[in-house]
Formats: sequence, C-alpha cells, structure tokens
Amino acid sequence: MLSGEPGKIPILMYHSVADEDESAVGPYFRIAITPGQFLQQMTWLNEKGYRTVSLAAAMELLRTGGSTAERTVVITFDDGYRNFYQHAFPAIEQFGFTATMFLPTASIADQHRIFNKRECMTWGDVRDLQQCGISFGSHTVNHPQLHGLDRERIRMELLESKQTIEDKTGSAVDTFAYPYAFPQTDKPFTAMVREILEEGGYRYGVCTRIGRAGKKSDPLFLERLPVNSADDAELLEAKMEGDYDWVGGVQSMIKRVRKSRTRG
Ligand SMILES: [Zn+2]
Repeated sequence: MLSGEPGKIPILMYHSVADEDESAVGPYFRIAITPGQFLQQMTWLNEKGYRTVSLAAAMELLRTGGSTAERTVVITFDDGYRNFYQHAFPAIEQFGFTATMFLPTASIADQHRIFNKRECMTWGDVRDLQQCGISFGSHTVNHPQLHGLDRERIRMELLESKQTIEDKTGSAVDTFAYPYAFPQTDKPFTAMVREILEEGGYRYGVCTRIGRAGKKSDPLFLERLPVNSADDAELLEAKMEGDYDWVGGVQSMIKRVRKSRTRG
C-alpha cells in the first residue's frame, strides 16, 4: 500500500472496549470495539513498528517536522468507561504503549457511576492508571452539547472539569476532548471555546473532525480517526496511512451545505 502524506500523525479515537451488540447502529456511529479486536489492533500497531506518544509529544514532533513523526500514533479514549481499565489497559501495557483518557468528571466518583448505559471508572481507578503512565484530560463536567450553551456555562464545563481532575490526581491537566460533533463551521462559537480553553490553560485538544493531525492542524481541535469493531486490520491501516483524510473534507462540506440549507 502507498504511504499517505508524510508528516501527519494519526490520533485514534476509542470509546468503549467491550462485547456490545451494535449491529443495529451504522458502522460510522459505532463506539464499541470488542476486547479481542482491540488486542488485535494493538498487536498490529506493535508489529508495524508504531510507537505511541502523548498529544504534547505528537505536536512537538509535528512542529519540528522531518521524518520523526513516522510510525507514531496517539491513542485516545473518551467518556471514562470502566471497561478501559478492564479490557483496553492490559493490551496497552503489554506492548509498552501509552494512551490518553478524557473524563466527563460528573461521571467519575468513588463508586462506579453510569454514563451512556456503561459503568465508569472511579477516581481510585484513575489514580491507579495514572501510576501506570496513562494520561487524563477533560471531556467537560456533564458531557453536554456545548453548542448553544451560554458562555458562563461553557466556562464552568471546561474549567471545573480541569480543576477536578487536577485535585483528584495531583497532576496538571492541559488536554481537552470536545464532546459530540464539533461545530467547525460556526466560527464565532469555536473562537469562544478557544478563548475559554486558553484562559483555562489548556494546550491541546481533540474533537470528532476526521483525519490525521498535521503541522497546520489546530492544536486545540485536532482531527482524530474513529475506530470501532467495524475496523479490521486493513481498514485501520488505510485510515492510519491517510486514506481517510479526505473524509474530513467531505464532513466539513456536508456541514456547510446543511448549515446553508437550515439558514436559507
Ligand atoms: Zn464523549
């Protein structure tokens, strides 16, 4: 297979790692992967010689350029599900990989709370995983649809979640994952979110824009590659080598068309 555009780093987006029946959901919208498939994907990354880095390290590699970004991948998880600890972490640890988990802090407590019908981690789990090299970022407090909320509420969601994770882990938090679809065509809104993120001391963020991160990517709203149980090794390889970068373009085009339709 031809290698994609050089100098780009894939940021993989996972949610739930469990045996869940998502057959009624279209492949594009599935958010679960089985533990067996997750292990296969990590095995594949390892065999292909990929190394995993933090978001900060990835951005530094992109900034300094060159071929150093080659065979580098960032692994991210959203939503704080307990099954990360049970089913994903063992595979990550087995290959000496690392990952970043984004927490909706209202769903993390001293007991396992439920978010989106799945059990979440406890703060004890979070601290255990942190000891093992897993990084944590904010995914808001309540996981709301931020688009449409007023500035003060958005500030609360972004700043309070960061503070809570810092208090509970004793480590600085500088990464954020935007929940739900990123409204990239609403420039005044995204500018406001950026201002709040900067005010809060965030340095890097990811969202649901599809593609790989490059030099020109926005460090607070980086593109990711969604991965779920519909991805076999070949599809994952295609995505990671850039065959899916065009999807991001189509995604923003569709959003522009939709927007002009609803406004027109
Ligand atoms: Zn989420």
